[in-house]
Amino acid sequence: MNSFTDVWSTLDWDDLSLRINSKTSRDVERALSRNKIDREDFMALISPAALPYLEPMAQRAQQLTRQRFGNTVNFFAPLYLSNLCANECTYCGFSMSNKIKRKTLDEDEIGRECEALNALGFKHLLMVTGEHKGKVGMDYFRRHFPAIRSYFDSLMIEVQPLQQEEYAELKTLGLDGVLVYQETYHAPTYALHHLRGQKQDFFWRLETPDRLGRAGIDKIGLGALFGLSGNWRTDSYMVAEHLLYLQQTYWQSRYSVAFPRLRPCTGGIEPASLLEENQLVQLICAFRMLAPDVELSLSTRESPYFRDHVIPLAINTVSAGSKTQPGGYADDHPELEQFAPHDNRSPQHVAEALTRAGLQPVWKDWDSFLGRVSQENVAGWQTNKLSGMQIP
Ligand code: SF4
Repeated sequence: MNSFTDVWSTLDWDDLSLRINSKTSRDVERALSRNKIDREDFMALISPAALPYLEPMAQRAQQLTRQRFGNTVNFFAPLYLSNLCANECTYCGFSMSNKIKRKTLDEDEIGRECEALNALGFKHLLMVTGEHKGKVGMDYFRRHFPAIRSYFDSLMIEVQPLQQEEYAELKTLGLDGVLVYQETYHAPTYALHHLRGQKQDFFWRLETPDRLGRAGIDKIGLGALFGLSGNWRTDSYMVAEHLLYLQQTYWQSRYSVAFPRLRPCTGGIEPASLLEENQLVQLICAFRMLAPDVELSLSTRESPYFRDHVIPLAINTVSAGSKTQPGGYADDHPELEQFAPHDNRSPQHVAEALTRAGLQPVWKDWDSFLGRVSQENVAGWQTNKLSGMQIP
């Protein structure tokens, strides 16, 4: 059966890196002049040559975002059910060899977490677990999925990659979407960072979105973890190839792209290369221009300052007030967390900041509570604030 592996095996990492780095300002200007950009244009827009064009890229990205999505930004919260994990990943606090306390929520604890999230206003949930199919596998999901789903309007998951039939079964229990980030598309780097467990299987993970598409899952989330490979540009291009392949092959599904950067955690590594803030803005804008209808997501891994400045440009979905440990909303337990979020503001605080920037947060009743701010505010905000980003 065909899969993205067939495409991936035709893409040479070194050759792509060379092509991206050799793009010129002329290539960037050509990309900026086009209504619909192609792969070569995308390469130009993520290349070093595009950094001086951050302002026109941001204007274009914002224009496309407002055209396609209006002023709305959807809020969601991650709910961590378990920090058990049978894998060893060099960058994660849940790695099996880390001496942290392990916890898997039971029915009562899950109910308390869901109620706490509802009380904060959340109606869109991302259910997260470590990867432990023995104790937090399909039996656990079957047992708790319907109750969790009953608290929320939509339910996404970020758990270990499953079989196609298992995704299809979860869909009948209310599953709306699945996030599965490849971490890095560079197989030798992937091997360096995944030392034990099922996650060592690069291709099992790479083909997960294919299984999701075949299972008819409504929304599929892609991304790379920036800081693992030495080249964020080539990893980003691979994400773009993955997205374009999936859109063409499983056109019934919708897609989202996230841009996680490594965060400090227990036993975690230092990033192999930094994706600077201005480069992350560049990347987000390039993705908006490549895929105007695709949902772009930004999590609390980023700072309040960065989020307040970049979400209004091209982001559609944000987490807020996130806890990255099981029991984090009702009972706290910071010692159980996966990584330390950077934006620790309350959801209300984030919503108010985005409303001041002219956006309309959408979660529960907040859109009517906070009200709409005029389109002129958005335009005025954008040009003034982008100059505050660190452009070398
Ligand atoms: Fe487990 Fe995922 Fe963390 Fe790896 S990244 S240790 S699979 S929770």
